[in-house]
Amino acid sequence: MRVFKFGGASVKDAEGVKNLTEIVRQTTDDLVVVVSAMGKTTNALERIVETIGQGDKRGVESQWKELLAYHERVADDLGVKVQEVVADDVLGAVLAHRNVKDAAYDDLYDTIVSIGELMSTSIVAAYLNKVGISAQLWNMPELLITDGSFREAVVNMQASVQQVQHAWHDPYRPRVVVAQGFIGGTHTGHRTTLGREGSDYTAALIANYLDAESVTIWKDVPGILNADPRLEENTVLIPELNYFEAVELAYSGAQVIHPKTIRPLENKQIPLFVRPFMQPELPGTIIKSAPTKPVNVPVYIWRKEQVLITMRAKDFSFVLEDSLTHIFDIISRCRLKVSLIQSSAVTISVCVDNSRNLKKAIQLLSEQYAVTYNEHLSLLTIRGTTPELIEHERQGRRILLSQLTRRTAKFVIADS
Ligand code: ASP
Ligand code: MG
Repeated sequence: MRVFKFGGASVKDAEGVKNLTEIVRQTTDDLVVVVSAMGKTTNALERIVETIGQGDKRGVESQWKELLAYHERVADDLGVKVQEVVADDVLGAVLAHRNVKDAAYDDLYDTIVSIGELMSTSIVAAYLNKVGISAQLWNMPELLITDGSFREAVVNMQASVQQVQHAWHDPYRPRVVVAQGFIGGTHTGHRTTLGREGSDYTAALIANYLDAESVTIWKDVPGILNADPRLEENTVLIPELNYFEAVELAYSGAQVIHPKTIRPLENKQIPLFVRPFMQPELPGTIIKSAPTKPVNVPVYIWRKEQVLITMRAKDFSFVLEDSLTHIFDIISRCRLKVSLIQSSAVTISVCVDNSRNLKKAIQLLSEQYAVTYNEHLSLLTIRGTTPELIEHERQGRRILLSQLTRRTAKFVIADS
């Protein structure tokens, strides 16, 4: 069996769903088709959650109407219907809303935001069936079992393997299964999400559980490129990567694959293809354990929205020896994502993704250290670089911190 994953851009309209259908039709293997929310739906749902938080019932209703109308238009164009079940959730949440406090907010977020994938998959499955490709729709909140850390739920591997394998071995299962990416559920029936852009991770987990032959992520780019084509001219396709390089790229901020995707695949040596959905005949990029074609171009990766936090011991004690555990305990409890670390005798600097918990983390760290921080930064990573390239990239930029190894340069740069 194989796993295909289609992101939001690939199913943003009826044309996209038809294109997906053709790609599915052209395979003879058993398939799990993992689908994200259509187009920018997840962002729209995030705004709805904010509006709920503001207690603006009218606002919620009109935003929800618009989003539902978008899905109904696509479904109409395809001659199918959107499942009704979800509409009640949103309005129900609004009605139930009384002063959503922080803890309850994340729960509400997952209940609402997961609706995007529920809607997209219901349309895709209905259309596949309509055109004669018999497809079963899986409800991932019942199959991918997670803990209750809403917005970044941790998957319970044992429970999920069992559920997914059981569903797969259903004697009435047709060749094709359609599953929501990005969402799961707790034992007690609460929907959860795995973190933004988490659909790739879902695809990798299902592949791991079912010992898939391969995973293919269908994208709006030709494969993995050596730089973001929106930022650099003359990008080139990287035909082959090993798992290690792929993780490094994803961690550095390459948008093509979610960083969590690689591990479940590497563990079972399942190859990952990244291929263009508009030209499915092209080979794209393959990620596997031992590529035959080495990466021989410098690779540029930007990680945006960075914050550089510097902590200095107030009493001249050595930060590294005494406080590393304490500092990283705070960082981990506030769920900050660290992109770079640098230290001296009495200071330690960490670069993190900007997030809602930033201020809380800084407050906790300030209890013990003198803390300074800079926002509006980007982290540029250049892999496979040369001294000339480094010199060139430095020019005209305000660099707050740099880190060099033999083949990799990392610069924390102030956004201009
Ligand atoms: N729809 C979700 C998001 O936009 C998950 C995904 O696209 O992978 O974050
Ligand atoms: Mg998406």
